[in-house]
Amino acid sequence: MKYIYLLGATGSIGRQTLDIIKDNPHAFKLIGASLGRNDKDNDQILSEFPLEIACLRTNEKLNLYQKKYPDTTFTIGTEGLIDIVKYPKPGLVVNALSGSVGLMPTVVAIKQKKNIALANKETLVMAGDLINQYLKDYSVTLFPIDSEHSAIWQTLAHERFEDIEKIVITASGGAFRDLNRDELNDVTVEDALRHPNWSMGPKVTIDSATMMNKGLEIIEAHHLFQLPYEKIETMLHKESIVHGMAYFKDGTVKASLGVSDMRIPIAYALTYPNRSTYPKTLDLKQLTFQAMDFDRFPLLALAYHVGRQGGLLPTVMNAANEAAVKLFIEEKITFLGIEEIVIRTVRQFKNKENPTLEDILETDQSIQQSIIEYYEKR
Ligand code: MG
Repeated sequence: MKYIYLLGATGSIGRQTLDIIKDNPHAFKLIGASLGRNDKDNDQILSEFPLEIACLRTNEKLNLYQKKYPDTTFTIGTEGLIDIVKYPKPGLVVNALSGSVGLMPTVVAIKQKKNIALANKETLVMAGDLINQYLKDYSVTLFPIDSEHSAIWQTLAHERFEDIEKIVITASGGAFRDLNRDELNDVTVEDALRHPNWSMGPKVTIDSATMMNKGLEIIEAHHLFQLPYEKIETMLHKESIVHGMAYFKDGTVKASLGVSDMRIPIAYALTYPNRSTYPKTLDLKQLTFQAMDFDRFPLLALAYHVGRQGGLLPTVMNAANEAAVKLFIEEKITFLGIEEIVIRTVRQFKNKENPTLEDILETDQSIQQSIIEYYEKR
């Protein structure tokens, strides 16, 4: 029986993780979870899983929850997320939080010697070097949940590092892949949220449409697999069947294929090195691959640049994007406004090498705040 702490239980990855736990009651026990804004969703989770500890967004309805679920310890806000990973029982932390708020719980989980199944991209984008150091210092293992990284992880298993020529991360291209840049002028939030292949949360769906998602993923891959950016390629693959590939020096290419269902990579991170039973038949249709067009997707080109520069720049790019996506969802800027903000913010920032965790957290906050304040004033 594996104990699970689930951060972000009401989000897309969170809900799918709950499905897997529910389907495998003899393998997993949910000990703690962070809940969302919707009381109905929260009630459903709390009544279905007798949690030992749960984190609420605010203390507004704390008394109500406490009265209704007297056996659960309730914690609050970002501090509460830390309380969950600090809970004095072993277990696997599933970090399915969206945004930079996911960084600190990962750091603390490692220091608590809890292994991590990571869906939160920001953790590695913002602080990949520090996280790798902590993982080593505390002998903790991190399992990727992102579908592409799960695929690459599986293709690289039992291979020698020096035999790897390159890896390829595929991209579906998101909601606007068939539009040219001129046609992007009038697209709406609703259009951007209509992903052709995957059912995901709003942030990552918008990031797919701008290709920022793939940009964050190459930086994630760099830290996960310790590969230089020259060896991390991206390719447009509209069918989302091949999630990742690895090329080896003897001419062998290994690919990992599967239907576009996040429950497969989530389950693998939870059950590794075993595989769970999840009947899904892959209908192998015609697969297409296209070279990536960096003029069409400037944020992907920016991410390669930012990743190579390292230091605080990945945090700056991530923070600018997080703020810009929020403004776009609130209809305060246009779709192309996201790119403008991210590119301008990165360009204007004076980089700092080897940042501390405090530098990273502070920069994330100040960049997001200044962008939000500027556009909300207008
Ligand atoms: Mg992905």
